[in-house]
Amino acid sequence: MEKTKKYILPEKEIPEQWYNIQADMPNPMLPPLHPGTKQPIGPADLAALFPMELIKQEVSQDRWIDIPEEVRDVYKLWRPTPLFRATNFEKLLDTPAKIYYKYEGVSPAGSHKPNTAVPQAYYNKMEGVKKITTETGAGQWGSALSFACNHFGIDLEVYMVKISYEQKPYRKFMMNTWGANVFSSPTNRTESGRKILAEDPDSPGSLGIAISEAVERAATNNDTKYSLGSVLNHVLMHQTVIGLESIKQMELAGDFPDIVIGCFGGGSNFAGISFPFLGLNFREGKNVRCIAAEPSSCPKLTKGEFRYDFGDTVGLTPLIPMYTLGHTFMPAPIHAGGLRYHGAGAIVSQLLKDKLIEAQSFHQIECFEAGVKFARSEGIIPAPESNHAIACAVKEALKAKEEGTPKTILFNLSGHGNFDMSAYDAYFSGKLVEHHLTEEELHADLKKLNTPIIQ
Ligand SMILES: *Cc1c(COP(=O)(O)O)cnc(C)c1O
Repeated sequence: MEKTKKYILPEKEIPEQWYNIQADMPNPMLPPLHPGTKQPIGPADLAALFPMELIKQEVSQDRWIDIPEEVRDVYKLWRPTPLFRATNFEKLLDTPAKIYYKYEGVSPAGSHKPNTAVPQAYYNKMEGVKKITTETGAGQWGSALSFACNHFGIDLEVYMVKISYEQKPYRKFMMNTWGANVFSSPTNRTESGRKILAEDPDSPGSLGIAISEAVERAATNNDTKYSLGSVLNHVLMHQTVIGLESIKQMELAGDFPDIVIGCFGGGSNFAGISFPFLGLNFREGKNVRCIAAEPSSCPKLTKGEFRYDFGDTVGLTPLIPMYTLGHTFMPAPIHAGGLRYHGAGAIVSQLLKDKLIEAQSFHQIECFEAGVKFARSEGIIPAPESNHAIACAVKEALKAKEEGTPKTILFNLSGHGNFDMSAYDAYFSGKLVEHHLTEEELHADLKKLNTPIIQ
């Protein structure tokens, strides 16, 4: 193996501000609507769920927002994260493309998610919140928020999708280690959970259902707020530390990307790596292609519709203008648990609508193929979610080879897969199944929506 090139920034280079892309978007995103009145929601509508500082960030039009010193101090545990040139992977692919990756798996929870968990816990703490509720799929977000809440001394209640709770217990134990209470969702602790269980006592749960439960608990308890790990504007903004550091590290490498790639669940790590580069497109006339890589079995960006829809299954959240498969869509049980979500954040949706970003979808098996090649050439075993970004990088690198154009590709390696070895085992033993969505399955839940398609 060739010596891997690693670009590290000193601690003082941790960004002092987050980048708010709302300041630079050519077309602003459409407002979220109150599900009852269908009028744009105001800060007061969100006050039961979120601390005021996060609500302000959600609607802010300021380009730069200061990162509190207390938050930067926690970031120092693992930031700035390293950026690598994947020279051995390039050789294996025999491509003229240069491939770089930003590695977010060095955080205590093993993914990019603590980048927003920490400021969210911090602002809740500042406003006197005693308890936070949240949902988690495979456990990445739950573990990140457990780490953050533990740091700031806040109680945490996590609703974990039942199928993951049963099949992937290790992240539950991580959450317990950081002091969180974890429940297998659907539970009978909430109206929402009881409603789902009445219809299907054996429901495997879903992210949408778990969100309904966590939101309901926060909305009905005064000292309790709710926290979301993706989709919302403030979450995407907190993740921009990834791209802001990457810009400096690409400079250190004496290079600049033609293509920036992130895998896509609700949009947070994709936004994190790509928004600062999009900002350069908007303000400095750069021409970086930003590609979101999603699973073919949950293809909201490539096959969904742009319309108002709920963020959760039961319909408790505001109506969000988003690319969606319908809030009742139940994604196939693929191993990339963090990508099994029916919708996309409003900002990312608007950018896609305006053709300022691109989206591509990938099948589960090609993602694991790409991930294993990566692990065997670069060492790090990627999270199944991150494998989608790698599959996309492979596709673009091979295209560069075909066309004979030496492109520079940067992707976000959103997390490590050390707790996902059962998924790799399924892949190696040929047990991974490919999920081909039929046209009927694709449209069934969209047909149930009564909001118009946004033209
Ligand atoms: C949660 C998660 C994702 C998907 O969520 P986004 O908000 O779309 O980033 C991707 N990768 C990893 C490792 C995750 O934990």
